[in-house]
Amino acid sequence: MSHDKKITGGCLCGDLRYEGNGEPRWVVHCHCRWCQRASGSAFLTYVGFAIDDLVWSKGKLSIYESSPEVERGFCPRCGSTLTFARPSRDEISVFAGTLDDPDSITPTAHAFFDHHFSWLDINDEAPRHARHPPGNEDRDQK
Ligand SMILES: [Zn+2]
Ligand SMILES: [Zn+2]
Repeated sequence: MSHDKKITGGCLCGDLRYEGNGEPRWVVHCHCRWCQRASGSAFLTYVGFAIDDLVWSKGKLSIYESSPEVERGFCPRCGSTLTFARPSRDEISVFAGTLDDPDSITPTAHAFFDHHFSWLDINDEAPRHARHPPGNEDRDQK
């Protein structure tokens, strides 16, 4: 996963735009039930940054606190699901579907694979974790 280009992206209507500084810290698919509900889709792909490394070049995110200290961000105009943040850990992820160039990233793992939909047929080589990837076992659920 090397690219000289900055990661950029935004919501469906274009009111919200972001830029990532440097390489993402993690790129992981999450199949948890809460990501499914929040996105309306089968899973969400997290592209992680330190909070200061994700710069909002346009617009202001709306926040839904899905658990204590967990902030899911969305566009107040078009409703696009954009981010999952844990400010107490200095973490924010943008979701791959909002990237301008989703092919520029390489997911490395599946999280919460025990929640994955039975009809979802995945053939990649990335390790599949029943819940959190190793080292992240203390993460909250939602
Ligand atoms: Zn929007
Ligand atoms: Zn999830």
